[in-house]
Amino acid sequence: MISGLHHVTAICGPAQANVDTYAGTLGLRLVKQTVNFDDPGTTHLYYADGDARPGSVLTFFPWPSDGMRGRVGAGQATATAYAVAPGALSQWLDRLPGAALQVAPPTARFGQNVLTLRDPDGLVIELIETDDASGQWAGGPVPESMALGAFHSVTLCSYDPDATAHVLTEAYGYAEHGQDGDRLRLVNPRADRAEFVDLFCGPQMQAGRMGIGTVHHVAFRAPDDDAELEARETLLSMGLRPTPQIDRQYFRSVYTREPGGILFEIATDGPGFAVDEPAESLGRSLQLPPQYEPQRAAIEARLAPLDLPY
Ligand code: ZN
Repeated sequence: MISGLHHVTAICGPAQANVDTYAGTLGLRLVKQTVNFDDPGTTHLYYADGDARPGSVLTFFPWPSDGMRGRVGAGQATATAYAVAPGALSQWLDRLPGAALQVAPPTARFGQNVLTLRDPDGLVIELIETDDASGQWAGGPVPESMALGAFHSVTLCSYDPDATAHVLTEAYGYAEHGQDGDRLRLVNPRADRAEFVDLFCGPQMQAGRMGIGTVHHVAFRAPDDDAELEARETLLSMGLRPTPQIDRQYFRSVYTREPGGILFEIATDGPGFAVDEPAESLGRSLQLPPQYEPQRAAIEARLAPLDLPY
């Protein structure tokens, strides 16, 4: 009962530069400032669409500027794509010169226009024009007509694409959608957004290495606990080793390393990002889960306050 993508989590360099790129240049809404629940010395930033909906959530663990740089490659999600409205790409091509993002010439994929960007850390972000882009936020610095909302897709470079496709179809409810060159597209028929996953490795793609500028994991949506636990049972029956369900405050998670080397998560839709701060002021101040609240003073002392562009 999985219903598309929930979030993508990546590793970046220092937090302020990341905020400048994603909330500033790209106009996403910063919906949560918290810490990595497994390592409270690391910040965890969440960006999303205007309503902070699953299917639009891109999260980052900022590492220090001298942290290990990653390499985008096999065993990773190699691109994260946002759906944008038809005509948005020409507006982005006007807006991006001078920004810190590298821009490749637009291409076509499955008949849709694609603009590929590399953020200052090397993370690959794509903008894909579709008729059903949704979730654009009016409160940011980017005009709504070109704004990013929900994801379109992720591209996975698997060490074993057949095995990855098998997991996606059997345990996550995906179906084959089509082939464009060497790119296989799967679709989740239950998803109302963020419904595609592409399996593709670029020419001479090397082994990926986790670090700054790479995706750490990809999370898929479960509408509720029952759906998540049912998918977990399916993964167990396939011989995979999912974690127990873990409480992540904003959702509940199950992690699985799939056979192609990529870390998958299943995350529940609820309770959502308004569980610990008002929906209208999401992301404005540091939120800590109850287990770290006693350490708040020490954690705040280590984290520089973020300057938001709106
Ligand atoms: Zn996650």
